Amino acid sequence: MQDKQLSQPGNADSAAAKEHAPINWTNMVLFTSTPILAVILVPLFGFVYGYSVYDWVMFVLMMGFCGISITAGYHRLWSHKAYKAHPALRFIFALGGACALQNDVFNWASDHRRHHAFVDNNDRDPYSAGRGFWFSHIGWIVRHYPSGVQDFSNIKDLQKDPILQWQHKHYLALVLFMNIAVPAFIGYLGGSIMAGLLLSGLLRLVLSQHVTYLINSLAHMWGRQPYSDKSSARDNSLLAFLTYGEGYHNYHHTFQWDYRNGIRWWHFDPTKWLIRSCEWLGLTSDLKRVSPLSIETARLEMQYRHASERCSTLANAEKWRARLEEEYLQLKATLDLWAKHRQEWYEAKTSQLHDQIHEKWDRLALRDSYREVRYRLKLQRQRWQDLMHNFANQQASAA
Ligand SMILES: [Zn+2]
Ligand SMILES: [Zn+2]
Repeated sequence: MQDKQLSQPGNADSAAAKEHAPINWTNMVLFTSTPILAVILVPLFGFVYGYSVYDWVMFVLMMGFCGISITAGYHRLWSHKAYKAHPALRFIFALGGACALQNDVFNWASDHRRHHAFVDNNDRDPYSAGRGFWFSHIGWIVRHYPSGVQDFSNIKDLQKDPILQWQHKHYLALVLFMNIAVPAFIGYLGGSIMAGLLLSGLLRLVLSQHVTYLINSLAHMWGRQPYSDKSSARDNSLLAFLTYGEGYHNYHHTFQWDYRNGIRWWHFDPTKWLIRSCEWLGLTSDLKRVSPLSIETARLEMQYRHASERCSTLANAEKWRARLEEEYLQLKATLDLWAKHRQEWYEAKTSQLHDQIHEKWDRLALRDSYREVRYRLKLQRQRWQDLMHNFANQQASAA
């Protein structure tokens, strides 16, 4: 319902926003020098010596490797436990995360769990968007803010994983290996070590970091809020395209333990596709999904609330309010009925219950009643959408 907009969540004038925390010099030097070096050296080398197709293909593959290791591994697997993964996959994600140079899993997941628990709280959310674009994008990394103090009390489950213990212990060595040795070897195979270091190493590092940081900054400022406006998180398909599916951030903050961020089949979410494909290969299991009823109810509640607020601005406020109330209650009742029938039909299809329902007739009756309710829901949804459009038009003419 809410149109696309750029906004500033939270309270930027809080005490936390005004403080001048001490600089984290390691990060400051690293996060300043790498983009500057990339901007100068990558085009310079390209101009003088040129890059081969192989160099660019490896750059793209390394970008994907780092990006997906963060989104599927650090984020959905470790921070949210949205599914379970085979040790081989966890090992690959641990390497990819070190390659992305986004700290070890313990620190990343601990910060991220705090981000969800205290979202938009400028004093407790490590990268609260309420403190501005710059702070939530990268500012929180280059200074020692009190909101970013390390506290592993929220990742005790992760500390038991031997792969994560190993990554935590050897993080620096892994970073150097993945960011220097691997790109150099890639370059060596393609005939130019320097080309590998510059594209698969330097440029890939800078770009993959800033792509991830867009989720903390822009995905809390730009886009729609179809599921909830309790936090600043927004859905933005352009960001989803750039971030391997993480741009459906309003959905994610509303239902954080779902392994999907883009829930429709047409939503661009390669992280979801990877996790699902790995399930067929036996590498992932226990994929968690939010029930369609919860998702639809959340959307309906948001639309209803916005439409109710608009009612008071219309000429025939009472008439519109009565119509809205009636359609809302009807749609809500049909949604509940649809969820009940859907559940019964899906259970009847499973092998266990299949045996219990001996009569083919019973199964057919279940299927038919489910289809009937589904059709009724489709018609009511259409009516609801028309009503929402009517509201929008009415408001436009009243303004
Ligand atoms: Zn998250
Ligand atoms: Zn967020």
